Amino acid sequence: MASSSNIYRNNSNNHRNTMKIDRPLAPSSNLRASSSFKSKLTPSSSTSNVRRSSPAFLGRPDNSVSGRVRVAVRLRPRNAEELVADADFADCVELQPEVKRLKLRKNNWDSDTYEFDEVLTEFASQKRVYEVVAKPVVESVLEGYNGTVMAYGQTGTGKTFTLGRLGDEDTSARGIMVRAMEDILENISPETDSISVSYLQLYMESIHDLLNPVNDNITIVEDPKTGDVSLPGATLVEISGQQSFMELLRIGEAHRIAANTKLNTESSRSHAILMVHVKKSVSGKEADFSDNDNSSHFGSNFNPPMLRKGKLVVVDLAGSERIHKSGSEGHMLEEAKSINLSLSALGKCINALAENSAHVPVRDSKLTRLLRDSFGGTARTSLIVTIGPSPRHRAETSSTISFGQRAMKVENMLKIKEEFDYKSLSRRLEIQLDKLMADNERQQKAFDYEVDRIKLEAQDRISEVETNCAEALEREKRKCQMDYMESIKKLEEKWMSNHQKNGNNGFANGTTSREGQVGSDRSEITELKKLLQNESSMRKAAEEEVTNLKNQLYQFTKPEAGGTSCILELHKLLEEETRKNKRLEEENAVLRSQLSQQTLEAGQVTHSQLRDEYSGEGALMTNLPGQVGLQKILSLLESEDPNICMHAVKVVANLAAEEANQEKIVEAGGLTSLLMLLRNFDDETICRVAAGAIANLAMNEANQELIMAEGGISLLAMTAGDAEDPQTLRMVAGAIANLCGNDRLQMRLRSEGGIKALLGMVRCRHPDVLSQVARGIANFAKCESRASAQGSRRGRSLLIEDGALPWIVQNANNEASLIRRHIELALCHLAQHEVNAKDMISGGALWELVRISRDCSREDIRSLARCTLTSSPTFYAEMRRLRIEV
Ligand code: ADP
Ligand code: MG
Repeated sequence: MASSSNIYRNNSNNHRNTMKIDRPLAPSSNLRASSSFKSKLTPSSSTSNVRRSSPAFLGRPDNSVSGRVRVAVRLRPRNAEELVADADFADCVELQPEVKRLKLRKNNWDSDTYEFDEVLTEFASQKRVYEVVAKPVVESVLEGYNGTVMAYGQTGTGKTFTLGRLGDEDTSARGIMVRAMEDILENISPETDSISVSYLQLYMESIHDLLNPVNDNITIVEDPKTGDVSLPGATLVEISGQQSFMELLRIGEAHRIAANTKLNTESSRSHAILMVHVKKSVSGKEADFSDNDNSSHFGSNFNPPMLRKGKLVVVDLAGSERIHKSGSEGHMLEEAKSINLSLSALGKCINALAENSAHVPVRDSKLTRLLRDSFGGTARTSLIVTIGPSPRHRAETSSTISFGQRAMKVENMLKIKEEFDYKSLSRRLEIQLDKLMADNERQQKAFDYEVDRIKLEAQDRISEVETNCAEALEREKRKCQMDYMESIKKLEEKWMSNHQKNGNNGFANGTTSREGQVGSDRSEITELKKLLQNESSMRKAAEEEVTNLKNQLYQFTKPEAGGTSCILELHKLLEEETRKNKRLEEENAVLRSQLSQQTLEAGQVTHSQLRDEYSGEGALMTNLPGQVGLQKILSLLESEDPNICMHAVKVVANLAAEEANQEKIVEAGGLTSLLMLLRNFDDETICRVAAGAIANLAMNEANQELIMAEGGISLLAMTAGDAEDPQTLRMVAGAIANLCGNDRLQMRLRSEGGIKALLGMVRCRHPDVLSQVARGIANFAKCESRASAQGSRRGRSLLIEDGALPWIVQNANNEASLIRRHIELALCHLAQHEVNAKDMISGGALWELVRISRDCSREDIRSLARCTLTSSPTFYAEMRRLRIEV
């Protein structure tokens, strides 16, 4: 009879159709699609629902999920009485569970059809009833939602059977309460989660504690902010397992019976309410937080543990029948009204919610206050309406069905009850901290150990290297010692063999090779030459000294120059120097004869060997002019080939070193040629050798004038300015120094830049150069002082005029004794002439003179300085001023 098209027609208020379908608000397709009560909440929708401290169900916050109240109808089988009394009558209801419809017979030919979320026949097992009605709610509670399972129906239709059966004898008969607790216990972990239970009875608007009958008027407390309802006065028992819960239910049941006896009522008049509080901890990982606000508080990969607080409320309502019908003996009408107040208030609230009415009279009764979250609140709610089959109770059945149909229209907004589990967070953090600290300690230990190990290893390596090094040094030392011993031995052997050869009259016997002899002779020659050179230079120095002394003597012989004791002393010195000189000359002659003998023994000397020997300045080839011809050599000086010119100038220089050759060289025009070389050649070697030769020639007074006449000073000055090599400068300085000693050339020497050139050469700090410069200055000063003494010269010293004084003062105490000696003499000479005194004082020379007079190692110079200082009025006055005593 009923068809889907009928259903829809009826739904659009087509009254011609007899079928009456009271549809829930949700689209029918949703209902058809749902095979059970089970919530269709998707994971994402439940995720988006996660909010903390959100207000309760007041209003409709966006973060909640719609969840309509689900309603199932359960038909009780005929009981024994009905089987007899109604034997001739058909049941007033017909169920079509596969289409979830119920037909309520009006009469034999007409019936009303109703659609429910679930239709449970008289054959439906307790298990199935639990699964379709309560299980989805229990699951939600475990997820942190509030949940309600409520039975509504006429007394005797099976509300208590459905909800409260313990199933002691037959476990399959266990009701929803028992099964729900089984499910909850199975899904929590006793270490982190907890379950606590209250069990209450509401009768005549007063709440009794079924777990502790002393609490017989428990007040309801509402959180004004969240709207959450709590019963602080109710006993709350922690559940540890199914047994304890069963025990609790038994106690509760016992107390209920006792209370009803005391109140003179039946259980059907009271509402029984079981409240199960589930606190379930969710670890950070389990809680799927996509919300960035959360992660920002705890770091991107750290979610705090959450605590989900779900509350399951199971309500076994009082019988829905009208009081007069079930009999309210012993109660006054007002009392009777009060008995059913809560139930009728519930009906009104559901009506208001179903009709979306602006006012829902929640506050009208205790029951509606207690259940405010179950209807129109945030809980997931399942209602099971129980009916009996008897046509005699058709009116009650119809009213029950209507209640169920209206309840189906109630829309709840499900909200998770969740908060941070700070306790467990702090526990977790403590554990983590302990672990990190232990890790850190372990790492530190490992690190320290590693450092120690590296240190030890390094020390081992260092000592190994040290040992190796010491061993290597020791080996090297021993090797050197061995080598040394070996070479000593070889030298001894060589010396022995030479000695033997010399023992054979120095002539080579038939077996000795001539070449070997020449070799050893040659080394001897070199050695002799060296000795001879040393001797020559010593002789030269001695000669200079003699000249100096002579000069000094000359001065001191003058009546004004000093006392006779001084002269006598100088005489003595002079004699000694002359003796020394003579001895040196004798030694010189001996060495020379030895040299010529060795040369003879060495046999013929090749041209190339000669050339090598010219390169040493002062090399002696006294017999050369005879062999080659002086004219020829001098003509080679003019050769265009620098090589030939070089060899020639060396030969000439060697010749010029010999006083005996000097006159011949000059006569043959050698001086002119040498000066020409200075003028024309850039080659520094040629200039050096030429300057050396000129220096030697300049030792002769006649030659000095000739050099001057041929413009030699300016040429030497030019070379002095250009040259870099210290030896060249030494030669040039030597030549100028010689010229400085000529009394007649003083003015010209100075005017042609001789003194300036001399002073310019001190830029080269080579002691040989400085020594020649100092000698030149000393020579010049000596000549000047002589001229002044003779009266042929007046005015300041030209040396001072040309700015020589600073350098003189600076070098008066030079480390090199030769330089020091020259300068000391120069200072003494300058000081002789009063006109220089002022400049000398201002230039610091006085101090040097005082030092010389005290510290000079040479007695004669010391006394010369002393005489000079005391005889000069200017110096004397200055010394007195400065309180210097000489
Ligand atoms: P209520 O609580 O609604 O007043 P009860 O649960 O006390 O009703 O049930 C009344 C009687 O009916 C009980 O004896 C119970 O065993 C029986 N009964 C109820 N429902 C069923 C059922 N579905 N199958 C068998 N017996 C039932
Ligand atoms: Mg009951």
